[in-house]
Amino acid sequence: MLGGMQDWPLLVWKLIDHAALHHGSREIVTARVEGGESRSNWREVRERALKVAQGLSRLGVRTGDRAATLAWNTQRHVECWYGISGMGAVAHTVNPRLFEEQIVYIINHAGDRVLFFDLTFVPLVERIAPKLNTVEHYVLMTGREHVPETSIPDLLAYEDLIAASDGDFEWANVDELTPAGLCYTSGTTGNPKGVLYTHRSNVLHTFGANSADALGLTSAATILPVVPMYHANAWGVPYAAAAAGAKLVMGGAHFDAPTLHGLIMREGVTLTAAVPTVWLAMLQHLEKSGQGMGELKRVVIGGSAVPRSMIVDFKEKYDVTVCHAWGMTEMSPLGTLGSLSAAALEKTQQEQFDIQTKQGRAIFGVEMKIVDDNGDEMPRDGKAFGHLMVRGPWVVREYYAGDGGHVLDADGWFDTGDVATIDPSGYMQITDRAKDVIKSGGEWISSIELENEAVGHAAVAEAAVIGLPHPKWDERPLLIVVRKPDTNPSKQDLLDHLEGRVAKWWMPNDVVFVDEIPHTATGKIQKLTLRQQFKDYRFPDAA
Ligand code: ADP
Repeated sequence: MLGGMQDWPLLVWKLIDHAALHHGSREIVTARVEGGESRSNWREVRERALKVAQGLSRLGVRTGDRAATLAWNTQRHVECWYGISGMGAVAHTVNPRLFEEQIVYIINHAGDRVLFFDLTFVPLVERIAPKLNTVEHYVLMTGREHVPETSIPDLLAYEDLIAASDGDFEWANVDELTPAGLCYTSGTTGNPKGVLYTHRSNVLHTFGANSADALGLTSAATILPVVPMYHANAWGVPYAAAAAGAKLVMGGAHFDAPTLHGLIMREGVTLTAAVPTVWLAMLQHLEKSGQGMGELKRVVIGGSAVPRSMIVDFKEKYDVTVCHAWGMTEMSPLGTLGSLSAAALEKTQQEQFDIQTKQGRAIFGVEMKIVDDNGDEMPRDGKAFGHLMVRGPWVVREYYAGDGGHVLDADGWFDTGDVATIDPSGYMQITDRAKDVIKSGGEWISSIELENEAVGHAAVAEAAVIGLPHPKWDERPLLIVVRKPDTNPSKQDLLDHLEGRVAKWWMPNDVVFVDEIPHTATGKIQKLTLRQQFKDYRFPDAA
């Protein structure tokens, strides 16, 4: 027997239809790539997205075809997202910060037929176009007046594509399991792999993202997603904002603290989402300039572990609450958020900071467990750490084109590659990537926890901890530090700071100072590169 309710397919374009109809005048503000700012709203953006869809259809794009974007967070990028998936094609966000060969590999592997790109990337596209085997149409995301002299073949100006459409077009009524989006993992080891989101998975993720303990967007909220749309869907913000009817503020090509701060103040931003490095720079900028944070109430931070000192600074200096988030491209990306539970709200401020340092609790829709090397489940006691496994309707089932083979175990769990603890209240804490844990004398040391504590030292701008070979212990931790400008802490200063904050046997065997720590295309510390940089290093006590 079937139930008696309607089968309303979960399609991504329904989000923007809702926004246009119920929150049509809510603004979308963009720091334009051409300079200056543009102001639009959900009604106009829907109309223009529909014209993009109509334009693509004119170009011969069909259901299931892939159309790529190499673009910053802008109104036009939002229009492309909805326009491409709304006509039944797949919106493939390409990370422009990847190596050029990786970008070529990804676009060819995806078989993209159209490439939308921002003005910033004209030189890049000129270089790679001859190597792109499947791209038939290049669309420069600007007006004709800004199109430069270029060797790019069959180049269309985005505004011309829109102007040639009358908007008399209907969104595609595809099956909800049709793919809507494609995003490749950054592929720090091996080739990047594609995650092919469905309309259904994106809409369900939007419901999850908008639950109150998660992003919890409302129609009164103003959100600035600093996290780029090419990095794990900007954590779903352009979908969640449409569902809620929130005002969307887009930073374009800008990631620097003064520009972002200007947008936050002028536009009355109440919520933002970004990786920790953005906030490190912001906190330094605020300290120097003596400014406040305006109406900003909450910042969602994820992608890498948030140091406790950052959570404390935001609260104590600016009365802004940090909500720690964890997820991954393979999870659309949100998995856990660190909002405070009823029990946590009863605790002291310092205890709450400890809880907020954890990556948080699972959103409804995400199942989570930790297992040992044999796959046996480990206790949720906040102490045992094991491989973090997840499953749910917005978690990857297989990579695009079957890359990587079967990625689920027999019970449908996906191994995140992270190592974590889960405490009895459900708060999960990442201790490491499995490949980065430091194995010392048969026990595991968490590099992330050491980094967190090191960054708590007033003179430390950034810290990384890697495990290096040690004749007695297998591996021992090396602490690598970037000092803040005009400070000069010594090795001993840092060891003194860590003393008592971490277990004795976790203490780094040495501290080295560097000018810069390498980062991946998504802002994570590049541990692989660090391990290579220090491959000839020997600990003082290992001679
Ligand atoms: P990419 O792999 O392309 O850089 P992802 O966002 O998919 O981008 O990376 C996901 C990984 O990032 C997670 O598996 C985890 O290792 C790390 N990560 C994400 N959020 C956090 C967090 N809050 N704390 C620690 N690590 C995190």
